[in-house]
Amino acid sequence: MSVGIAVAADPSVTRGAGGSHTVVNPATGRAIGEVPLADAAETDAAIARANEAFPAWKAVAPGERARLLRAFAAAVDAHIEELAQLEVANSGHTVGNARWEAGNVRDVLNYYSASPERMMGKQIPVPGGVDITFREPLGVVGVIVPWNFPMPIAGWGFGPALAAGNTVVLKPAELTPLTALRIAELAREAGLPESVFIVIPGKGSVVGQRFVDNPTVRKVCFTGSTEVGKQIMAGCARQVKPVTLELGGKNATIVFADTDLDKAAASAPYAVFDNAGQDCCARSRVLVQRSVYDEFLDKFAAAVRGVKVLDPASADAEMGPLISAGHRDSVARYLDGVEIATTGTAPDGADFAGGFWMPPSVVLPRSVTDAVWREEVFGPVVAMMPFEDEAEAIAMANDTEYGLSGSIFTSDVGRALRVARGVQSGNLSVNSHSSVRYWTPFGGYKQSGLGRELGPNATDAFTEEKNVFIATD
Ligand code: NAD
Repeated sequence: MSVGIAVAADPSVTRGAGGSHTVVNPATGRAIGEVPLADAAETDAAIARANEAFPAWKAVAPGERARLLRAFAAAVDAHIEELAQLEVANSGHTVGNARWEAGNVRDVLNYYSASPERMMGKQIPVPGGVDITFREPLGVVGVIVPWNFPMPIAGWGFGPALAAGNTVVLKPAELTPLTALRIAELAREAGLPESVFIVIPGKGSVVGQRFVDNPTVRKVCFTGSTEVGKQIMAGCARQVKPVTLELGGKNATIVFADTDLDKAAASAPYAVFDNAGQDCCARSRVLVQRSVYDEFLDKFAAAVRGVKVLDPASADAEMGPLISAGHRDSVARYLDGVEIATTGTAPDGADFAGGFWMPPSVVLPRSVTDAVWREEVFGPVVAMMPFEDEAEAIAMANDTEYGLSGSIFTSDVGRALRVARGVQSGNLSVNSHSSVRYWTPFGGYKQSGLGRELGPNATDAFTEEKNVFIATD
């Protein structure tokens, strides 16, 4: 497959002097284009342009900023299929997922287009006068995006940040820049003023680091690994620069004996193998009550063998390839020396020989100290272990440095609530695996992150709260 990469003379896209990156289709291993990378000077120049654009953007009347965001959403909506096809080719996402992801950008823009007219402060009773608060935008916000969900994660940052009146510089991951570049062009076509939203492809150590170090960037909104997130937080501390961090996860599905085992087993594979397991919310640990462990394993293994690992462009595909050869190697290492209960399939035709494919696997760790049980594998490997009772299930689920998501399967409502309150994670679902809706808050406990994205209050994270007292005496 060949994908045309539009290189428009668009000032909302910086394409530069920091070398270039060959974009590869993960399903075939074939190069599909070349994207120039920005260097530090170009990044600083883009940040300066975004800063110049800030006062005028902040001053745009709320209703007009709302209208521009809705126009941006409409432009994305008119290009869902084009954006989805770009993501299939660049990231190996199944076409069904990629269409949902592009639609999520549209929905997030529409949702936060209602914010400018609702950026309300408070009036607080005080003696001797009137006390009022204002929500004010920060200035230039830097959004740093990982490769696993290039479109939604970009939108969760730039949507509310722009709605709150900030200008945005956004760095896509080196491996997956294509959809962000196209979305920046759509923003301009929709009428967003020049330099209000600038996409800067480049290396994390160059472009991302400038977002941290350049004092003109007033907030960094980072999604990625916990390791890099810690460096970003430490770097931002030097300027007391606010950060939002969405980091790794080692999430558990907890299956109690009283649940509908068929339903739980049928859905559990998709909670980990969606996006080939490259998902911070992947339920890569399955905890099963010992009395039904063997029965569940049989049903779960059968469901895993049924996952359709196909050409991601095929409408039937449920799972595609991994993002790169290097990442596939690092995932494969988790299978060394571990008992493998079952393995699914992967395409083996000539077209896919150079792709980064890996079939889904269910593994049975010997102990809770095994790396596959403790570390974020970020690939199609799920580990299963038994537990005795509710208390042990909660303790095992919490025995991790992470706390992002999780699922609880039980027919006992009281137990569902007790366990949901007991598991230290930001996003839990009962008798289902959903965890991300743009109108509900999303984020992690412990080393899964800091702050929340999405939901009704997301714009607050892109503002300062100012208090003003007016004497009436
Ligand atoms: P990564 O940390 O390697 O990179 C993420 C982004 O940070 C990339 O754009 C990268 O270029 C940039 N970066 C790297 N070094 C940097 C530096 N020194 N300064 C500034 N920026 C830098 O992560 P990845 O491999 O792209 O993504 C996978 C990770 O992201 C996983 O750990 C996954 O769990 C996590 N993730 C978390 C969430 C969430 O919402 N919690 C969502 C998706 C992914």
